[in-house]
Amino acid sequence: MERKININRVLFALIVLVIVVFLLIYLFVPRAESSEEVNLMVDLTGKTVEEAKAFADKYKLNLIIEEQNDTTEKDKIFEQSINVNSEIKENDTLIIYVSLGINYEELKVNELGDVPIMMYHGIHNITDNEYTGGNVDKDGYQRTKEAFIEDLEFYYNSGYRMIRLQDYVNGIIDVEAGLSPIILTFDDGLENNIKVTGLDENGNIIIDPNSAVGVLEDFKKKYPDFNVTATFFVNGGLFQQSEYNEKILNWLVDNGYDIGNHSYSHADFTTISKEKSIQEIGIVYNLLEKYIPGKYVNIVALPFGSPYDKNHGNFEAILNGIYNGNEYKTESTLRVGWMPETSPFNLNFENTFLKRVRAWDDNGNDWDIKKSFEYLQDTRYISDGDKNTITVPQDRVEKVKNNYNLKVNTY
Ligand SMILES: [Zn+2]
Repeated sequence: MERKININRVLFALIVLVIVVFLLIYLFVPRAESSEEVNLMVDLTGKTVEEAKAFADKYKLNLIIEEQNDTTEKDKIFEQSINVNSEIKENDTLIIYVSLGINYEELKVNELGDVPIMMYHGIHNITDNEYTGGNVDKDGYQRTKEAFIEDLEFYYNSGYRMIRLQDYVNGIIDVEAGLSPIILTFDDGLENNIKVTGLDENGNIIIDPNSAVGVLEDFKKKYPDFNVTATFFVNGGLFQQSEYNEKILNWLVDNGYDIGNHSYSHADFTTISKEKSIQEIGIVYNLLEKYIPGKYVNIVALPFGSPYDKNHGNFEAILNGIYNGNEYKTESTLRVGWMPETSPFNLNFENTFLKRVRAWDDNGNDWDIKKSFEYLQDTRYISDGDKNTITVPQDRVEKVKNNYNLKVNTY
């Protein structure tokens, strides 16, 4: 009996000891798990960017803000990259999507609409021209500086904003919601496109404010949201100021303008051989490669619009060729006149053979500026404000050709 009692006591003491040891371990040995608290993602949808910033600051997250179209109220968050209640750690990246709150119907958004590619040549600083509406010549290929300024004011006030031709050809249309894209082109590389009057003390070119680029630079300052740009198509003589060739071409590409190919000698592609056609195109590409390697656009403005027909044997020579060991590939060509082109997202868009609007005045006849823009009133491209989406009315969605892998929205 006595012995049994002793065993029980020993057992009891052992159990107490074990409990005490565990208690001590529990109290004094630090536990890795509980030293760091677990933070969980909250629901930010419907909240503002400021609230998201405060949250990201508190938990030291890298916040990325994306503005996108959504029916959610303007400036409110409609999506977040981290799921609610997921664990978040310092330096995690959190993307929030903020609604632009655009009412497509009210703005009549139509990203299948038409885009005017304006065709200019020379800009002349004269006022006493004898032809109608600021045309210098009877055919209207040359325009006074005064008329050019009026044209630009008209485009801006009619809700057009400039985009690069190169971007248009590649389906990149970055224009504010409710507004429309316009493209400016200049053929022939005339001196009055960018007239250099000398060099400043740093060796930079001084540009005549009366030349086309001078006028465009003024508009850049006057209307920063006009996104002023243009593409100049040159022949072998570039801008007819050989001592400044390198400086002019570099200045243009450094200042948001583009240079394309107008053939070496302003060739008529219906009258020359295929070999000569390759030479005409290849020399200009090689010249541009020499002065601005890789910075020109592979687009040809067809001289006289020749060879007028995509099926002409020389058209292929304009698109592809090898000259002096250099291979060229032309991604697009421009015709002469006569009306706006369609959207690059339209099924009918043919990006290698683009129509242009002749920038001239003929009292509203023959697809001059007035007539073209009257026509555009009903057919114009109206942007949704997001270059990554194609937004069209529901009943036109089957007309969309989504070559650029963009998101298609309908309303
Ligand atoms: Zn020309």
